[in-house]
Amino acid sequence: MSECIFCKIINGEIPSDKVYEDEKVIAFNDINPQAPVHILVIPKEHISSIKEIDENNGDIIKHIHLVINRIAKEKGLDEKGFRIVNNCGEEGGQTVGHLHYHLLGGRQLQWPPG
Ligand code: C5P
Repeated sequence: MSECIFCKIINGEIPSDKVYEDEKVIAFNDINPQAPVHILVIPKEHISSIKEIDENNGDIIKHIHLVINRIAKEKGLDEKGFRIVNNCGEEGGQTVGHLHYHLLGGRQLQWPPG
């Protein structure tokens, strides 16, 4: 049994506020939202981080981006804009070791991030 918290969300062991699901990914509202819209899009396959992506499994990144686009449109973010964030590793601010993309929007976002 996986100890990965996002794998537990995928298999239903831990509840989540799901906004999208298909055979390859799920998307759910972040438990600690940093913007009016803050959704995590994650592959169902356990991939620890973007560092594990190569020619053999890179198709999932395209799929995740297409799903993000779809959700952004559904949430009405496509006109004003939104941000996609992938934190990688300790200094990148990654706290969950399962590849995930943050979709943030619904307010003016600042740059640079902290
Ligand atoms: O990029 P990082 O690894 O820091 O992001 C992990 C994200 O997962 C955090 O934004 C955290 O709020 C979210 N999370 C969640 N539900 C959980 C555990 C973490 O939405 N059960």
